[in-house]
Amino acid sequence: MIRKVRLFTPGPTPLLPAAQFAMAAADIHHRTPEFRALYLKVLAQLKEFIGTKNDVILLSSSGTGAMEASVSNLTSPGDRVLVLSAGKFGERWTALCKNFGCEVDVVQKPYGETFTLDEVKAALKLETRVVFMQGNETSTGARHDVEAVGALLREQHADALLVVDGITALGTTHMNMDTTNIDVVIGGSQKAVMIPPGLSYLALSERAWDRMEATYNPRYYFDLRKERKNAKLGESAYTPAVALIAALGAALDWIAGQAATPENPAGDLAQGRKKLIDNAETIAAMTRAAVTAMGFKLFAPGGPGAAATAIIAPEGTDSGIVVKELKARFGAIITNGQGEMKGQIFRIAHLGYFDYMDTIALIGALEQVVVTKLPQLNAPFGTGLVAAQKAFAERTDKSTGV
Ligand SMILES: *Cc1c(COP(=O)(O)O)cnc(C)c1O
Repeated sequence: MIRKVRLFTPGPTPLLPAAQFAMAAADIHHRTPEFRALYLKVLAQLKEFIGTKNDVILLSSSGTGAMEASVSNLTSPGDRVLVLSAGKFGERWTALCKNFGCEVDVVQKPYGETFTLDEVKAALKLETRVVFMQGNETSTGARHDVEAVGALLREQHADALLVVDGITALGTTHMNMDTTNIDVVIGGSQKAVMIPPGLSYLALSERAWDRMEATYNPRYYFDLRKERKNAKLGESAYTPAVALIAALGAALDWIAGQAATPENPAGDLAQGRKKLIDNAETIAAMTRAAVTAMGFKLFAPGGPGAAATAIIAPEGTDSGIVVKELKARFGAIITNGQGEMKGQIFRIAHLGYFDYMDTIALIGALEQVVVTKLPQLNAPFGTGLVAAQKAFAERTDKSTGV
């Protein structure tokens, strides 16, 4: 059979065609009124997509650039910070903070788990200046309760800033930055917003902007105060990734359009974002139902997120078999585990531009792999599909089918 190559990876994710067309047409200079209008439009849209009134900064970097910017702009050498870590991206916070000379306390949980509020409470010190965490730990599939940590900080420790790597939480998790004490939320272009890698963005509270007045870790390219000044005028400090910004504008238009009505054909970004999140939740629920019915175990059963599902390979088999077979036979690209989890788990993404058809097809392909390569699971054809169909039917409105 022929194979269409399809990404089922949690970044990069499949590209939105409308965004690709916008990229191809983005032959504009960045110091012109045309670009300024685009930039201001996209920055305003990002606020709505994140769901905040705070200023949003756009950077030409992958997501880690915005993570680094939050460490370099919000800390000084010797600052005590707390990292909540239960996976590879949590470990990235620890490494970044150490590189910028912070004294790092870590709440370290096993991969696949999340933290309890008591554990966070016990680790907070009077001197803790910033708490860093993920909204969704993409390496394990676990979702962390950002809002609960925000509420705890407000009660216990009003001075500590909360910085959230929301790179795969945005577009998959309902979060309210402005009412729940979140000071920084970070996003990346190659995740739920369905465009290629190369842009990161972050929203910062006034408390975070105030903190920057006194911190003195070195920063140059990622100087957020400089970017904020330029952004107000519709520009970035240096040459921005113009084509990606055009793509992002088109993608955010498309997300808004998902909530279009006859009275409002352009749609609404806040409503469209809700639809995007519900879409990821439904696909994640279908996937979890399918793989558990087939006899697999989830890697993060306690609190699985909707960005990606991490699935444990059966005892004695390498998860790479599933990754390899899905690609070789069906053109479906999924991901193996990262670091120590390589060979143990495989991960299927749900964030961004995936629909019912993609989901059912991938589960059907996974059944083919299970029947031929994992006979010990004893899962005949249809086992996963039946469970996924039921999960879909339960989650969708029967009167409209959507
Ligand atoms: C993808 C991702 C990142 C960013 O990685 P980059 O490769 O720098 O874009 C950071 N955190 C999480 C949770 C991610 O999923």
